[in-house]
Amino acid sequence: MTVKGHTLLANNALLFTIYITNTSLENYSYINLLIFYSFFILGVVLVDIDEPKSFIGRKLFFISYPFKIINLLIIFVISFFTKNKSIKRVFEHRGFTHMFIFPVLIFASSFLTNGYLNLYIKLLAFGVLLHQMGDLITNSGIRNYLFPLPFENVKLFITFDTDSFFEKIVNTFLSLLLTYQIFILFNKGFL
Ligand SMILES: [Zn+2]
Repeated sequence: MTVKGHTLLANNALLFTIYITNTSLENYSYINLLIFYSFFILGVVLVDIDEPKSFIGRKLFFISYPFKIINLLIIFVISFFTKNKSIKRVFEHRGFTHMFIFPVLIFASSFLTNGYLNLYIKLLAFGVLLHQMGDLITNSGIRNYLFPLPFENVKLFITFDTDSFFEKIVNTFLSLLLTYQIFILFNKGFL
């Protein structure tokens, strides 16, 4: 999925979550809302930091290359201790930041904090999870997504190629849905 698709999907999911959880944004200052949103989007975009060829990876190549190496080392250490054979092919593919365990660990770490920091970390984890959902609907899926469970390649039922015509249709639909959701939330006084 392209970075455009990822952000459209994530923003739709965020607004939908605000709506169904009946979260009132009036309790927070604009500055705080901006920080909340920044952490969320950071989570969405930063997952691809382990891929020097990705949108964010190309822009921040001085981070993405060292990160790719660190990422592979983490996977190497995990595979060494667990003797998990299915892990070996991850060297050719998406790394640790693309595993389900990554947002789970971020979310778990939020319990060590309180106040606003707790919410920031939870939003970061939510953003990461939504990026992963976006990758799970691409044809390549995510290898070892459910590590340490031994599923080789995980993807959802409906998938398409990144930047394909089908993704463009999906993105157009997501743009319209986002506009609709913003309209609804404004009308109901959420925003
Ligand atoms: Zn990705």
